[in-house]
Amino acid sequence: MTTGTARDVAAQIRAAAEEIAGAGESAPRRARDPVNLPMINNWVEALGDANPVYTSAEAAAASVHGGLVAPPAMAQVWTMPGLSPPGDGADPLHLMMAALDRHGYGSVVATDCEQTYHRYLRHGERLAVTTRLDSVVGPKRTALGEGWFVTTRNTWYSGAEPVAEMLFRVLKFRPAEAGANAEPESESELAAPAILPAINADTAFFWEGTAAGELRVQRCGGCGLLRHPPGPMCPECGATEPTHLVSAGLGEVYSYVVHHHPPLPGKELPLVIALVELDEGVRMLGELLGADPAGVHVGMRVRAGYRHGAEVTVPHWRPVEEEAA
Ligand code: ZN
Repeated sequence: MTTGTARDVAAQIRAAAEEIAGAGESAPRRARDPVNLPMINNWVEALGDANPVYTSAEAAAASVHGGLVAPPAMAQVWTMPGLSPPGDGADPLHLMMAALDRHGYGSVVATDCEQTYHRYLRHGERLAVTTRLDSVVGPKRTALGEGWFVTTRNTWYSGAEPVAEMLFRVLKFRPAEAGANAEPESESELAAPAILPAINADTAFFWEGTAAGELRVQRCGGCGLLRHPPGPMCPECGATEPTHLVSAGLGEVYSYVVHHHPPLPGKELPLVIALVELDEGVRMLGELLGADPAGVHVGMRVRAGYRHGAEVTVPHWRPVEEEAA
């Protein structure tokens, strides 16, 4: 670890960021395979996307596309480097990560990702992707520890034409336990979730609901399909006017994990994160409180609860049996 005063360290990090950002876009990395139907078949099956313009030549020919196209959200899929990526060490994201590692900011958590699609892709197009460092902002004090927000921009090209872009932001941080000044400032900071959820036009109704002690589930204004997490468009009928219903807040554990490590500020470990299938039929993630981790099981009945934080009310689950006891 490089030593120096906090100010020296910040100046060194900013200088590294400036140099990496100044180098601009990385060399393009070519996709392993062209856009192809087998990969699309696997992806739409995993995601549950039944739009026939991706898989049925006949339906696609009759659509506005006039032929098969790839789901735009697959942009990143085409340039996945595989299990043994040819590391050239010069990728701007990895260079910046390494610079922060050297100054003790060794932990990383992704915070948000924003993709833009310029057009649909056709089978046979072979993409290439570039990366450039967009911004490095910090140092910021967060519940996880002091860190820097690193934003990179990926651009996917078909030939010379940009076809999709992604802004990807991570928090690169020094875990609070290892820091010199890591004590939480207040009870409210202790109780706050380590990373606050992003609230946007698609999700505001959900968080307004939890603040009011309601678990709201998005319902398509066209066909009535329930969906979670919320999104702008119905995957079934394409309608863009969602409504919502208020869930009874009851469901059962569909799957869960018991988190033992790493430590989380303000949390006693182990803790249980449960994917709950609500009685209305959608699945939702949350922390399961009030249950012995060893006693949690798939099918366990749970009810939603609400802890009101300063900025956001994050719902959690509690066993139904525990309430009755
Ligand atoms: Zn619909």
